Amino acid sequence: METTESELETFTPCDRCGHRAYVLVEAYSHKFCQDLRIALCGHHYRTFERQLTRQGFDVVEDRREELVPKREAVAA
Ligand SMILES: [Zn+2]
Repeated sequence: METTESELETFTPCDRCGHRAYVLVEAYSHKFCQDLRIALCGHHYRTFERQLTRQGFDVVEDRREELVPKREAVAA
C-alpha cells in the first residue's frame, strides 16, 4: 500500500479560520498523551509561528509555496 505523508494534499481547513491550511504542525501533548496536530493557513501560521515554536511544535508539512499567486496574463 502506498502512503503519502501529505495530509494537506486534500483540503484541510485552518484550525482558526477554516480557510485552506498550508502548514501542518505537530507536537507531543503531555496533557492529552498523544501527538497534537494543528493545520493552519499561511496567515495564521505566521501569526502563531513563534508561539508554536516555543511550545515545541514542529512543522510536518509546509505547502506555502503553493500560495504564491500565479500571475494571470491580463487580457488586452
Ligand atoms: Zn487561518
